[in-house]
Amino acid sequence: MVVLGAGPAGLVLGNLLQDAGIDCVVLERAERTHLRTRARAGFLAAHTVHVLERHGLAEGLRRHGQAHSTCEFRTEDGRFRLDYSGLGRGERHTVYPQQLLVTDLLTRFLDKGGRIEFGTEATAVVDLDTDRPSVTVREADGRPGRRRARYVAGCDGRHGAARRSLPPGSVRRYDCAHGVTWLGLLAEAPPSLDAVGYAVHERGFAGHMARTSEITRYYVQCEPGTPAGAWSEERIWDELELRMGVTKYGPLHRGPVVQRTVVDLESDVLEPLRHGSLFLAGDAAALISPSAAKGANLAVLEAELLARALIDDLRHGDAEGLDAYSARCLTHIWRAQEFSHWMIGLLHGPSGADRPSPFHEALRQSRLASLRTSRSRQDWFAEHYVGV
Ligand SMILES: Cc1cc2nc3c(=O)[nH]c(=O)nc-3n(C[C@H](O)[C@H](O)[C@H](O)COP(=O)(O)OP(=O)(O)OC[C@H]3O[C@@H](n4cnc5c(N)ncnc54)[C@H](O)[C@@H]3O)c2cc1C
Repeated sequence: MVVLGAGPAGLVLGNLLQDAGIDCVVLERAERTHLRTRARAGFLAAHTVHVLERHGLAEGLRRHGQAHSTCEFRTEDGRFRLDYSGLGRGERHTVYPQQLLVTDLLTRFLDKGGRIEFGTEATAVVDLDTDRPSVTVREADGRPGRRRARYVAGCDGRHGAARRSLPPGSVRRYDCAHGVTWLGLLAEAPPSLDAVGYAVHERGFAGHMARTSEITRYYVQCEPGTPAGAWSEERIWDELELRMGVTKYGPLHRGPVVQRTVVDLESDVLEPLRHGSLFLAGDAAALISPSAAKGANLAVLEAELLARALIDDLRHGDAEGLDAYSARCLTHIWRAQEFSHWMIGLLHGPSGADRPSPFHEALRQSRLASLRTSRSRQDWFAEHYVGV
């Protein structure tokens, strides 16, 4: 078995296959140190934590993760909070930075004798239609190479080799560019609220998400095409403070901005998630905008489904799970896409690139009002916000 990519999808899959005694190798383009410091997601759904616990992969997050269950919406008219642990299914998030989860998964895999080839870039998956596919690679020393396997799992993200290797017309791609851009920031500053903060302001969206006691993620909506370095730190903090209404609701802890990423909100889904001997999981299967923090959670869910199906096939000759894999994942993916799309509509006001008409702006305000006042709406929100 060859797994492409050592992100959450590839490493959960690798660990589960290895625990089942299935020979597998993970090919990873980046070096190990890079994976341990690549900050991205942080909010793990209850289901994700259950999956990781079920397979003995949750030790680090149990020790260092923080339970989280409140979000706060701020508008120019006021603010309200939802404690979603008391709504919907009563579930919470666990805040645990993705780079720590990836480090835990890597360490466990390697400690148990797993093989990861760092610095090895998959260039193509070939002979997909046969039961002897292979992966062509650029080895760590730059020479071309090849790995053969019974199956290949494409967990190498949106721009990886798995997607590129699909024959034209073999899968359908549904895609959507939402016309909204965020500047994603990591600040060396403690969180300023005990909640996820979503500010909906006429100058654009601003978001606050805790990561650790010393690091906070912020998002600030900017014009599409804005380079990551275009705003000075002072401008970033001034915009965040204005949009988050600090004069009414209290200050933000300022600190050095240690990472900036431009995030164009985009989504896509491939269908089906299999072609012959190649299976897709995580961002390689579907890209989801970070508006509802679903990407890493879907990656873990899909990796577990794929691992089970591969184990049934390779250990017991039962291919039912592999045949059903794509349809099972797509049900979850589309539900997550639907909710993320709803969140984009909730959070983005008139300064989005796709400037909404007054009609759409009034709809957005009505959406916020029903979330503030309707218990059934809040239950629906909670179920989808924390679930996958
Ligand atoms: C700013 C930001 C914030 C986010 N916040 C959240 C959040 O709060 N909650 C959430 O659930 N999700 C969040 N996400 C999304 C989440 O980070 C991704 O969905 C998640 O990383 C997907 O995991 P993956 O394993 O599929 O892919 P990745 O984590 O992208 O891993 C893919 C791996 O494949 C490797 N690779 C790529 N190409 C090749 C190749 N050709 N050969 C070999 N290796 C290759 C890459 O180096 C990488 O290590 C966020 C994303 C961003 C950008």
